[in-house]
Amino acid sequence: MIEFLREPLAFTLLAAVLGLFVGSFLNVVIHRLPRMMERDWLAQAAELRGEEPPAQERFNLATPRSRCPHCGHLITALENIPVVSYLLLRGRCRHCDAPISRRYPVVELLSAALSGYAAWHFGFGLAALGAILFLWAMIALAFIDLDTQLLPDDLTLPLLWLGLAFNLGRTFTDLPSAVIGAMAGYLSLWSVYWLFKLATGKEGMGFGDFKLLAAIGAWLGWQLLPLTILFSSLVGAVVGIALIVLARHGRSVPIPFGPYLAAAGVLALFWGESITRAYLGSF
Ligand SMILES: [Zn+2]
Repeated sequence: MIEFLREPLAFTLLAAVLGLFVGSFLNVVIHRLPRMMERDWLAQAAELRGEEPPAQERFNLATPRSRCPHCGHLITALENIPVVSYLLLRGRCRHCDAPISRRYPVVELLSAALSGYAAWHFGFGLAALGAILFLWAMIALAFIDLDTQLLPDDLTLPLLWLGLAFNLGRTFTDLPSAVIGAMAGYLSLWSVYWLFKLATGKEGMGFGDFKLLAAIGAWLGWQLLPLTILFSSLVGAVVGIALIVLARHGRSVPIPFGPYLAAAGVLALFWGESITRAYLGSF
């Protein structure tokens, strides 16, 4: 089996198929985690007011089973095969014909592509495993932030610890670089936040952004933070300007920064070292 996995093409294909199925689970996380947090807040708020917590049915990543949001039709296992079911159903609910969001196959394909590429790029070993876990977290965080402007602590904090744990064995960087990366990642955006707030009285980003950059620093080391910030700001500025020009966004409507940070983290994971080295070498 190990011999088979050392074959780059076989390992890549296996990772891509695994990524496809995990992508389906990521869709559930993206959809449900913010709602689970909201329920928690409501229950805590009720407790603080000294009331009985509102009666709620069980709601977590596993229960209840997925239903069509339009007609309530329970989605069967056959209708839940990543991408394949979407194509066979032609993007519509089998029961009521309501369109299924294109987001689902997109997330599944993205997860498959990134997982497969990580297997190809890093080869069989601990680095590929870590990279794939990191990529899954980036996908979930980017889409949750896009939907809700939240980056849940339930994802960012374990991601940070996991990054430090992988670097105990120098998987992506040495441990001092990882610890400094986590601290510098948090503090850099924290400082930007306060400077922006003191200068304009507005909040330019959320605390989740600091924790996400701290996690990226823990995985990749402080050396890749400048590139990550630069890339996320560039893409963020281009997309932000495009949205304002297309008038789909008022200038004051907050644009989540998390998706750009996550995209920059993916870029830095694969090519950060070679880009940074090429840049430094050009002097
Ligand atoms: Zn339906």
